[in-house]
Amino acid sequence: MKPKVLVTEPIHQVGWNLLAAETEAVAWAGPQAAPLAQALEEAQGVIVRSARLPGDVIRGAKQLRIIAKHGAGVEKIDVAAATACGVVVTSTPAANAQSVAELALALLLSVARRIGEYTRDLTLGKPQLRQAYQGIELQGRVLGVIGLGEIGLRVGRLAGGALGMRVLAYDPYRDPWPEGIERVRTLDVLLAEADCLSIHVPLMEETRKLIGPAALAWVRPTCILVNTSRGEVVDEAALAEAIRGGRLAGAGLDVVVDEPIRPDHPLAGLPNVLLTPHLGSVTEDGLMRMARAAAEEVLRVLQGEAPRYPVNPEALVKPNR
Ligand code: NAD
Repeated sequence: MKPKVLVTEPIHQVGWNLLAAETEAVAWAGPQAAPLAQALEEAQGVIVRSARLPGDVIRGAKQLRIIAKHGAGVEKIDVAAATACGVVVTSTPAANAQSVAELALALLLSVARRIGEYTRDLTLGKPQLRQAYQGIELQGRVLGVIGLGEIGLRVGRLAGGALGMRVLAYDPYRDPWPEGIERVRTLDVLLAEADCLSIHVPLMEETRKLIGPAALAWVRPTCILVNTSRGEVVDEAALAEAIRGGRLAGAGLDVVVDEPIRPDHPLAGLPNVLLTPHLGSVTEDGLMRMARAAAEEVLRVLQGEAPRYPVNPEALVKPNR
């Protein structure tokens, strides 16, 4: 009998076909149809995009052997509970990195050139003369990358190569340090030096509200902030206040704390703030790579092979319940 694998949200057909060829792939119909805990009964694997997998659900899924995250951030999965149960959690680290990096750059360029403002003003019936939308060039300006992993490094390389920016980065854990990116040892120095900032750290206790009032006090009033990591990394109230007070020139945000963002969000409607609905990895290419990589991880584990990107490798040496 083929093992059952639950897929919590739609994935690219390429990944689905791979999975369906070897397993009984089942699409979750959503919480209205059946709670996740119930849908996971008998499942030996699950592919999860943005659904939450708390500890009690993992502990209750007695047959589960692998949780394959479609994407990178695993903060909605209780990894400790999975480890305790001998369930391996995997991610697809590099699969969406180029898509997210390109969006970060798109947001940076758009805020720098104030793309979006004229269209919005025109739609609201109050277009201004073009001088009102004066922007800046990025060439020669300093980009500060916070978190130099898969995405941050790509952003740095794109900005340094294609745009001729000077790229500095802060990442206390990166080792070895890549060529062509200047290393800055403290966040404060990076914040003070940067004309533009791009955030690419994972959400952890250490990075929650990393960019709050104290950090924003270091930033130049002409600085542009881009965040494509997680909304919780930025203190949204402090950011809105800094922009309203003229202590930051603008922001491009793909992520906010409460998603999907509501129209009355304090950052919505602020001049020179661009918002996108967490679509960093939402490209044909990114979605295909993530679905394929997640399906391949499930198949590896169910066929007794080691996964390529385990988040909790210690689970591999524990007996599965
Ligand atoms: P990654 O793990 O390759 O890189 C993260 C980097 O952050 C690492 O190099 C790590 O050393 C560094 N880091 C950790 N703590 C830090 C700290 N306190 N200060 C500075 N650096 C620190 O991850 P990635 O693939 O580059 O993705 C980064 C994040 O982007 C993910 O965790 C996820 O939250 C987010 N993401 C968003 C989207 C989207 O659609 N917007 C898509 C994918 C990933």
